This record gives sequence, C-alpha cells and structure tokens, in this order.
Amino acid sequence: MSLDDIQTRIAAACTKAGRNVSDVTLIAVSKVQPDARVAAVLDHGHRVFGENKVQEAAGKWPRFRESYDGIALHLIGPLQTNKARQAMELAQAIHTLDRSKLANTIARLAQEMGQCPDIFIQVNTGEEPQKAGVLPAEVDDFVTQARALDLPVVGLMCIPPVYEEPSLHFALLAKMAARNGLAGLSMGMSADFESAIALGATHIRVGSAIFGDRVAP
Ligand SMILES: *Cc1c(COP(=O)(O)O)cnc(C)c1O
Repeated sequence: MSLDDIQTRIAAACTKAGRNVSDVTLIAVSKVQPDARVAAVLDHGHRVFGENKVQEAAGKWPRFRESYDGIALHLIGPLQTNKARQAMELAQAIHTLDRSKLANTIARLAQEMGQCPDIFIQVNTGEEPQKAGVLPAEVDDFVTQARALDLPVVGLMCIPPVYEEPSLHFALLAKMAARNGLAGLSMGMSADFESAIALGATHIRVGSAIFGDRVAP
C-alpha cells in the first residue's frame, strides 16, 4: 500500500540528510477519509494519525480505539477555546497553539485534568492574513509566555503559503525553533515532506499521499 512507499521515501530522505529515521514521526492525516481506508492503515500497523477537526476526531477515534491499541492522535487544525477540553481528552499532541487566550485555557484545563498533550506552536511563517499562527516576530515572546504557563511546548509547526517555495519556510521555522531551544518541527505534507526532512522536520503530516484524494464531504 502507499503507506509503504511513503515510509521508503522517508527513509531515503533521512539517509540523504544524515538523519535517523526514528527521529521523524509520520502523522497519517486521516481527515475526511472513509473509515475503511483508515482501518486499512491501522491494519498495516500504523498508529500515529492526524485530524484537523475536534468534532470529526471525536466521532471517529474513540471507536477505532476500541479495536486498536496504542493509537496516538495529533490535532493539526485550528482549535477553538470551547473545544480545548475535548481536544485534550482525545489527542496526544496539539499542533496549533497560536494565541494567548488558548494558551491560558489549555493551561487551566491541564491543571484541572492533571494531564496535557504535547504542544506545538503554530507559526504563520508566510504572514498570511487568512492563516492562523503566531507571526514570526512574536514567536520568541509567545514561547516564553507558553512556558511560563507550564505548557509542555515541544516544538513549532507551520503550513507554508501555497504558492511559495516551502523550503524557505521550513528553514525559517527551524531557525526559530533552534533559537528557542525547541527540538520539535512539525512541517512537511504530501507534496513536500522530503524537503521538510532535509531541513529538520521531526513530525511530517501526510494525508493524500497515504490515503488517496480526500473525498468531498
Ligand atoms: C490536511 C492537512 C495536511 C495533509 O495534507 P496532504 O496534502 O493531504 O498531505 C497536513 N497538515 C495540515 C495542517 C492539514 O490540514
């Protein structure tokens, strides 16, 4: 199945970059995919998945978790504060912390729940008005702020502008993570995960290249 092809390509990209394949986590982005395709990837042994909507994840993953052990779910889409609790109950990682209000809410809930998913801070590297994410100039302050709230910040995440060379954005994200002492880099999708790996990605988010085209909802 195409999961094997992707893993082969990841391994090749790691070799080329002189990196260990175990340092790159493949997040299989299952949003909008039919259950049968998701089950096929689970049956193939994969356990790390990404969803971009809390509601969709909540309707899908508790069910799969009844049949499969060891599933790790990553929330990679925008998060509303009123969905934060549900997201924290479902997901092992949230990639889209992008504002103070959400940081405060997650911190409060983490206290209350006694647990918190790994947190990536989303950076709007292309400074696109319609896109979520902290602006590059504000990243350092925001990381400091999130750490002061005791949030388990593990890295940065970006979605490069569609019509720009993604490598420039991956390199920028890597630089911002390094100067903040963050090891995690969530970057790279179906079309560009190899260049993301070359630039240090630790988490790549690959959907259509594994599952096939997303069926219109
Ligand atoms: C859908 C999505 C992906 C996966 O995109 P593909 O091009 O299908 O690999 C990755 N990251 C985010 C944030 C997404 O919403």
